[in-house]
Amino acid sequence: MTTLFVSDLHLTLQRPAIGKIFLDFLRGPARRAEALYILGDIFEIWLGDDAVVDEYRPYIEAMKSFSDTGIPLYVMRGNRDFLLSTGFESMTGAQLLDHTIVIDLYGTPTLLMHGDLLCTDDVDYQKFRKMILSNEWQDEFLSMTVAERVEYGRMLREKSREAMQEKKEMIMDVNQGAVEVTMREHQVTQLIHGHTHRPDIHRFGLDGKTVTRTVLPDWYEHGGVLACDESGCRLEEL
Ligand code: MN
Repeated sequence: MTTLFVSDLHLTLQRPAIGKIFLDFLRGPARRAEALYILGDIFEIWLGDDAVVDEYRPYIEAMKSFSDTGIPLYVMRGNRDFLLSTGFESMTGAQLLDHTIVIDLYGTPTLLMHGDLLCTDDVDYQKFRKMILSNEWQDEFLSMTVAERVEYGRMLREKSREAMQEKKEMIMDVNQGAVEVTMREHQVTQLIHGHTHRPDIHRFGLDGKTVTRTVLPDWYEHGGVLACDESGCRLEEL
């Protein structure tokens, strides 16, 4: 049996081919897994469980049919869909995870994260992240009408696009020091995350052990999955 990990699908009407790959994945290969983890940014934007746009309905329904088979579907919030909440859980049958969680992956203690928390060189982003994750900000945002949220979301994405153009490549990657501190803190030898859109399996020494940091691929051009079993983990294209 295998455990599958995906992230950064960024589902949107602008990339219908990717949506189709996700639907096929949920109806096909994912059903042979013993668990499916989606580590953030399934959706390009999520404006609240009470504001689901029609374009997302097929994905929600496909996730529901998937979890109805009894295979656990775990979902972590990303920086685009950080407002996923209990309404999403009931619509899909998914179980939302905390921002950092340690699982036992075939005997290897493994830390799962979306990955944005590790990009500590991007000080402005970390400030922004703190703001949008605060109860105050979220209560205020969710008290707006859906139309107001749509407008606000558009403005945020525009600002983020502008900010990204000014930032150096390195700033938007994880900080190795932050990776080491976090792995040490959680006493793991394996870390799996997404967010940076730089898929790879990095191996390095930490406290006398060889540890791995696996970065999941985004789904901009094609789908990608990390498949893990007793013998290890492989990045596969969908
Ligand atoms: Mn992200």
